[in-house]
Amino acid sequence: MRHGLQNTLKTSVTFKGVGLHGGAPVKMVLKPAAAGHGIWFKRTDIEVGDAMIPAIYDLVERTPLCTKLVNGAGVTLSTIEHIMAALAGCGIHNALIEIDGPEVPIMDGSSVEFVRGIMAKGVRQQAAPVLAYEVLKPVTVEKDGAKATLLPSNRLEIEFHIDFADPAIGRQSKTLDMRNGTFARELSDSRTFCRQADVDAMHENGLALGGTLENAVVVDGDDVLSPGGFRHADEAVRHKMLDALGDLYLAGGPLLGHYVGERAGHSLTNTLLRKLFATPGAVRPVLCDAETAERLPGQGLIWAEIPQVA
Ligand SMILES: [Zn+2]
Repeated sequence: MRHGLQNTLKTSVTFKGVGLHGGAPVKMVLKPAAAGHGIWFKRTDIEVGDAMIPAIYDLVERTPLCTKLVNGAGVTLSTIEHIMAALAGCGIHNALIEIDGPEVPIMDGSSVEFVRGIMAKGVRQQAAPVLAYEVLKPVTVEKDGAKATLLPSNRLEIEFHIDFADPAIGRQSKTLDMRNGTFARELSDSRTFCRQADVDAMHENGLALGGTLENAVVVDGDDVLSPGGFRHADEAVRHKMLDALGDLYLAGGPLLGHYVGERAGHSLTNTLLRKLFATPGAVRPVLCDAETAERLPGQGLIWAEIPQVA
């Protein structure tokens, strides 16, 4: 049997920015890693104790605002979802990500700078088959009017429905098959969004200190306060799909399944993954053959189709 092979980065890629919540400058370096290594973060500012944090769902501390990992020594890393989405969407299976602070840089609030940075340097194929996780049984979780579901599928499909009181966002729905570079083309430049009232509340609590009108789309009722408005009319639902791709990549490899998020967020998607892996017979690891690998995110990604942003 011909296998679909794992990928890592051709060479290191460096990103500099600020953390969304702490507002502090941060440097993040993505480094190539061996086949079978997976995605790991390393806090280079931690001098004593365990600075290594694997990107895996059961280390997620469920908080509403972002996806935060915490290792056995209590070392944390916040806002990992956009770099995880970029790695999933570029088909990177192995990387060591060194970071000198507690938060991944927010960049422009989307994944596009990560995708462009990774793809500019290129992807290297490795001599080991991709290990994917195939959903075999439907699994659903619900909380406070939000719902997240995984259904069996031979590819990763992401479906999302949102319904916000602010008319600037309102009701939006979208479904996409994640192969053929879909993520890079359709979702990677969609930014985090929030409501002005939420920004005010976060500032009062000392959060979102690095947030600006440049790295999040801020809305207030009918109005979009960020200059230039939305990049897509349905940028909000696209960003929720971006977050879902990043959060689902914490399965430990690509997921083959149909995800449905209805007003869901990071915490609920994580609860869904935990339930998937805790439910007997709901998921199985598969070594991808060449045909399955053709359906993985990252396949068919074309440089010219990655959005350019100023
Ligand atoms: Zn996000």
